[in-house]
Amino acid sequence: MQLFDPQAPGQLIPVLNLEESEVQRQMTVCNACRYCEGFCAVFPAMTRRLEFSQADIHYLANLCHNCGACLHACQYAAPHEFEINVPKAMAKVRLDTYAEYAWPQVMGKLYRRNGLTLALASGAGLALFLCLTLLAMGNLFTAMPGGNFYGIFPHNTLALMFGAVFGFAVLALTIGVRRFWRNVSPADAPRQEKTAAVLEATANVAQLKYLDGGHGEGCNNADDQFTQWRRRFHHFTFYGFMLCFAATGVATLYHFLLDWSAPYPVLSLPVMLGITGGLGLLIGPAGLLWLNLRRHPEHGDENQKPMDRGFIALLFLVSASGLALLAFRDTTALGLLLAIHLGLVMAFFLTMPYSKFAHGIFRSAALLKYSIEKRQPNPINAGSD
Ligand code: SF4
Ligand code: SF4
Repeated sequence: MQLFDPQAPGQLIPVLNLEESEVQRQMTVCNACRYCEGFCAVFPAMTRRLEFSQADIHYLANLCHNCGACLHACQYAAPHEFEINVPKAMAKVRLDTYAEYAWPQVMGKLYRRNGLTLALASGAGLALFLCLTLLAMGNLFTAMPGGNFYGIFPHNTLALMFGAVFGFAVLALTIGVRRFWRNVSPADAPRQEKTAAVLEATANVAQLKYLDGGHGEGCNNADDQFTQWRRRFHHFTFYGFMLCFAATGVATLYHFLLDWSAPYPVLSLPVMLGITGGLGLLIGPAGLLWLNLRRHPEHGDENQKPMDRGFIALLFLVSASGLALLAFRDTTALGLLLAIHLGLVMAFFLTMPYSKFAHGIFRSAALLKYSIEKRQPNPINAGSD
């Protein structure tokens, strides 16, 4: 729903939903208090505003890393009548933003349903389909010379199938984040400032800077104690994913540029990258699941835990099945393990644009906006000159 803006005749302003109104209320209290100003990027960004439009709220919600520091420091948290809980209010709006900016928008509903059951059911369903296909072809329990899985599924078939699904996932995420960006960043910035901002935002993403709680000691995960493990397990997951992605990229270059087809020896570059990344994708998601199960009930949005766990479980299973495939590729288990691994990878790609994966993309965009915005004159100070 939208209303006409009395300040700008002819312009429509969106009406806030309940979750957005709650963030607006809490940010108004925080903007008067400002005790948490040094904790993360949310509070300095907040102080550049006297009012909070829907676009501001979407931006701030995606800037919050849910570290819990401001909740544990807050003198206005429950049982105080103000009931301030910034991480929870922000988490609820974040989910709305993923759904609202999703492409195609109708698929945004999956964010609310993409839980553990859906992730595992889609992975199991696709793996079963491929197992039955191989059974019908008589390849389910056949060993291939040198563990050559292209003897079971030809390279071009796999490249076409997975390239198409991955391409769609990238397109959907790109359109979604572009919609978000255009809404929260209507003004452009000078080119020079943009370059510095891109470098700073990239460093903040690469280090997961704001998972340090603002004081360097880490998140409040389960209680008042700080822990660096949330940041570390995020690092294992992020860099594990990037290394697996690099392994696929190098293997593709080998195949098309050097005419050198898989399977590659264990000590080759793509396999070493894949093993290292795969181990990261076992340790990171396992640790994040452990932390998720112990998370303080007042942190974030309880209703989103199935989505978080579904994503974590799928990542873990993709990695575990990939490593098992490598370990047993010379045996008669090759076909079975290949079908399971490919089914799980396909499920991961299919759900990628409508799963927790989106949080990394939207948060990176919000960090970039923050790095650009902080280089601009503060509109509040400028107004008082
Ligand atoms: S979270 Fe609480 S302590 Fe922190 S700025 Fe807001 S009102 Fe103040
Ligand atoms: S939970 Fe952490 S990242 Fe989010 S607003 Fe509070 S201090 Fe900032």
